[in-house]
Amino acid sequence: MAFQDAGAQQPQWPVHSMDRPRPPVVTPAPARAPVPPPSDAIVLFNGRDLSEWVGSDGQPARWQVHEGYVQVVPGAGLVTRRSFGDVQLHVEWAAPNPPRGEGQGRGNSGVFLMQFYEVQVLDSYDNVTYADGQAAALYGQFPPLVNASRAPGEWQTYDITFRRPRFRADGSVESPARVTVIHNGVLVHDAVELQGRTAHNRRAQYAPHEDRRPLSLQDHGDPVRFRNIWVRGLEDSRP
Ligand code: MG
Repeated sequence: MAFQDAGAQQPQWPVHSMDRPRPPVVTPAPARAPVPPPSDAIVLFNGRDLSEWVGSDGQPARWQVHEGYVQVVPGAGLVTRRSFGDVQLHVEWAAPNPPRGEGQGRGNSGVFLMQFYEVQVLDSYDNVTYADGQAAALYGQFPPLVNASRAPGEWQTYDITFRRPRFRADGSVESPARVTVIHNGVLVHDAVELQGRTAHNRRAQYAPHEDRRPLSLQDHGDPVRFRNIWVRGLEDSRP
């Protein structure tokens, strides 16, 4: 299966460059109660059970459900039982408080579209790391436009619009994945075209895959919390 470049356009910065400018800090509005899902959403986590999920190791989901949230248990990520293509996705998360570790080791998790394309989850409140790996980065590719992080322990929101990549019959890229992210009510990616599957410490590349795949949440060893996860399929509303 041939790997495909997204196109001729080469990014300006090496992957994970510490010289890449870090986005300016913006203080978002204060955290608020969970945003209730609209009537046509599929609720993936309602604060009570993990019936929509399995472990990324194929075992039953082992993350700990508490009153209203679920917390990472190191060992495996979570993967949805259902598969999705284009989506609107709402996720709320909170980094551990008090914070522990630094850089990529502080409150690291991730929201993966189609299990391949990561919107980084990280405690980026007074925590320096490479710009393309901070909270809300499209990991290894694009820093957020601004750093709209809330403090550790506070609930944060991601509202993500994701258009999946389209592949031709020969496996080449017809149209790259496109991602819009609003972090805590602040626009941080505006219809950004991904360069390929997000990857650690190497250039992203595309490889063809199914039109619908599960969503996943990353286990990076840190006890990050999630709540109020819902999704709306957009496959029939392609612009
Ligand atoms: Mg991560």
